[in-house]
Amino acid sequence: MQINLRGLVLALTILSAIAATANALYASYRVQREQLILNTLESNRVYAAKLAESTDGFLKSAQQQLGYSARHLPELIGSADRLAAEVMRMQQQTDSFNSVGVVGPDGTILATTQTSRSFLGTQVDSPGSRAALKSRQPLISKPYVSIAGNLLINLSHPIFSNDGAYLGYVAGTIYLRNESVLQDLLGKHHYQDGSYLYVVDSDGRLIYHTEAARVGEVVLSNPVVAAVTKGNAGAQRVVNTRGVDMLAGYAPVAMSGWGVIAQRPAQVTLEPIHDLIWALVGYAAPLALAFLLAIWWCARMISLPLSQLATNVEHQDVAVAMQRVHSVKAWYFEAERLKRAVIWSFTSLQDKIGKLNLATITDPLTGLRNRRGTQDAVDQMQACSTPFSVVALDIDHFKQINDTYGHNVGDEVIRDMARVMRECSRPSDVLCRNGGEEFLILLPDVGAREATHVAERLRAHIAQRQMRGASSVTISAGVAQWPSSGPDVDEAFKAADAALYAAKQQGRNRVVMHEA
Ligand code: GH3
Ligand code: MG
Ligand code: MG
Repeated sequence: MQINLRGLVLALTILSAIAATANALYASYRVQREQLILNTLESNRVYAAKLAESTDGFLKSAQQQLGYSARHLPELIGSADRLAAEVMRMQQQTDSFNSVGVVGPDGTILATTQTSRSFLGTQVDSPGSRAALKSRQPLISKPYVSIAGNLLINLSHPIFSNDGAYLGYVAGTIYLRNESVLQDLLGKHHYQDGSYLYVVDSDGRLIYHTEAARVGEVVLSNPVVAAVTKGNAGAQRVVNTRGVDMLAGYAPVAMSGWGVIAQRPAQVTLEPIHDLIWALVGYAAPLALAFLLAIWWCARMISLPLSQLATNVEHQDVAVAMQRVHSVKAWYFEAERLKRAVIWSFTSLQDKIGKLNLATITDPLTGLRNRRGTQDAVDQMQACSTPFSVVALDIDHFKQINDTYGHNVGDEVIRDMARVMRECSRPSDVLCRNGGEEFLILLPDVGAREATHVAERLRAHIAQRQMRGASSVTISAGVAQWPSSGPDVDEAFKAADAALYAAKQQGRNRVVMHEA
């Protein structure tokens, strides 16, 4: 089965509409997506920078507290009670530290806020302590597990006497896995939209993470962590160590060499776009449906003239087909052209048929009717019961004309004879060449007597006329009438022939009327 024009137009339009819509949707999807990614990266970058700044500020103020205390501690070192009161004050005053302690230059714990007093007087040998004793400078330690079993960092400040002697250090600890000021600082900024942050130390070790269990894990293989531990700030789309596609912003904490990373899974970020696209489709659907109906209607209007033309051309009757083709409303250029072409081919076909019809009933030499043409005229008159007279004509001694002047002159005489016949007859008369040099004239609604007059006039005209090429030419004629004796037409023709024969017998160059 072949696809029809309506289907074709419909399919093409729908296809192009779908292609255009899909293209527009895709372009809008891409733009929205890129915009969302850029926005998220930027907000995470700003967020990380802000948090890094806050953390830096906090560490600075914590160090200042320790430094302030360290200046007064030399006076208190002699008294265990006053030392204990001082460390308690420091811990409770600001909530900066989980515990505060004072350690002597040999590593002996001089005071601590730890509830278990059994630590007092013992040697502390933790990485934080060793580093503080060794450097004799304000220090933020790397994370380590304390004697009490807590993962923590140690902020320390050296204590020097007025004469510059090293008296040990004062230190505050911040727990990484338990509730701490760091947890408060970082945790309360946690977004509800799937974004979160984490903090690494300068070795790429997690020191803060929303999943507390991950604290202590080294994630240096994450490119963002690698960048931030080198002291860089920025934003980047990255696949994290867990294989999740993330939009991460990052910033270093100047004070400690840590890095703050704020991030949000790309999938969570991009989720709203899918809803947006569906919403767009939803809004576009009713109009698209209306558009589709309009297209369907247009396709119908386009195909209608063509199918009407085709149907009408197929009609059996050419005349009816023509009339119907004329009535087709071809409202656009191509259909109008097709319509005109159909009409033109119909007209030329009819013209050719007419010419062919004429040729079959016409004698080519004279242009008069041939035998078949004569029969048609007779049939018609018979059908309409039109009475008529028959004049049968024959050129006298035509053989001699042929013999004397040649066949061409004979033909010329025959043509001349036809010319004279036309001159001497009325338009209603039927003029025929019956074969050779024999002719017939049928005169409708004319009686035998009047027909005899016509024949006589013709005869006289020929006799006195100089025919082309031949000297003198005469004709004989026989006249009969239908219906005279009976309804049979052949009888009338036979009667005319008989009268002609009689004319020849009587010496030629005369007209004889058949007496009924
Ligand atoms: P008549 O009728 O007076 O008795 O004598 P005729 O010489 O006319 O006799 P007939 O009718 O028998 O002869 C007709 C001749 O006409 C015979 C044929 O050679 C000639 N003829 C027939 N058709 C044509 C034609 O188309 N052209 C020419 N040049 N001659 C034709
Ligand atoms: Mg003859
Ligand atoms: Mg003759």
